[in-house]
Amino acid sequence: MKLKIAIQKSGRLHEDSLRLLKECGIDISNGGNKLKSTAANFPLEVYFLRDDDIPQYVEDAVADAGIVGENVVYEKKKEVEVMEQLGFGKCRLSIAIEKSEIYSKEKLNGKKIATSYPVILQEYLDKNKITAEIHEISGSVEIAPGIGLADAICDLVSSGSTLFTNGLKEAETILESQSVLIRNRCLDKEKLQLLEKLLFRIRSVKKAKNNKYILLNAPNEKLKEIVDLLPGMKSPTVLPLAESGWSSVHSVIDENDFWDIIEQLKAAGAQGILVVPIEKMIV
Ligand code: ATP
Ligand code: MG
Repeated sequence: MKLKIAIQKSGRLHEDSLRLLKECGIDISNGGNKLKSTAANFPLEVYFLRDDDIPQYVEDAVADAGIVGENVVYEKKKEVEVMEQLGFGKCRLSIAIEKSEIYSKEKLNGKKIATSYPVILQEYLDKNKITAEIHEISGSVEIAPGIGLADAICDLVSSGSTLFTNGLKEAETILESQSVLIRNRCLDKEKLQLLEKLLFRIRSVKKAKNNKYILLNAPNEKLKEIVDLLPGMKSPTVLPLAESGWSSVHSVIDENDFWDIIEQLKAAGAQGILVVPIEKMIV
């Protein structure tokens, strides 16, 4: 028996999805023009599909699980369970208007908005009691205002450069999105166990990415102060140096607190600070 997982065939999520599986120790030969591929060292079959179709296939149990953007999950409204945010494919669904205009929500009343996300946009408009006309188009939404098709657009943005080159500006974000692992709601026990196994690996990879291994030298009289700055997984490792009066301290720190902690460590007298990436982290 194999777990069937659907990932994007080509596009922005394809490479990162394959990389994540690889980092989980699962090797899959690249999709190419193939529809599916089998992992060599994990009971997994990977289906390569258009991202729009993934929620439907997972709902129908054609695939047991899938990797897809939250934006697609919420737009398609399929009966699937979101298991985990995966940290890549980050973008936002935003309303954009012509650069020269001044934005206010109320001004959207009576306007025409072009989007590929009519469901999410309609929910946003309803919630804000705005009545606007939604014009659904499937691609190149950003050209709609320029050709007189719409007054505003609602589209995915990451850097904003596409908007800029089309004379538009981002006015309001209505959804923050990233890729997620979704699953069919009624998997049998065996499939669920396999999926839990995969999820455990994904979490270890994610955790490792968010953490760094840190080594430093500390004068013994400052040891207490320095150790207190470093939580570690349990607590830091302290080893004596060959030179008396000095110790080597090893620990794990969160990427987000990284620069703050480094500054405090230096101020407390730490020397020879080394920071190294962690490949996997099992807690
Ligand atoms: P498919 O052929 O599979 O339907 P697509 O053209 O619909 O592909 P892509 O442009 O490859 O989709 O984007 C896939 C996903 O990547 C989006 O649904 C979104 O979750 C994410 N994404 C991240 N950044 C951006 C961005 N700047 N623009 C569009 N999508 C982005
Ligand atoms: Mg698509």
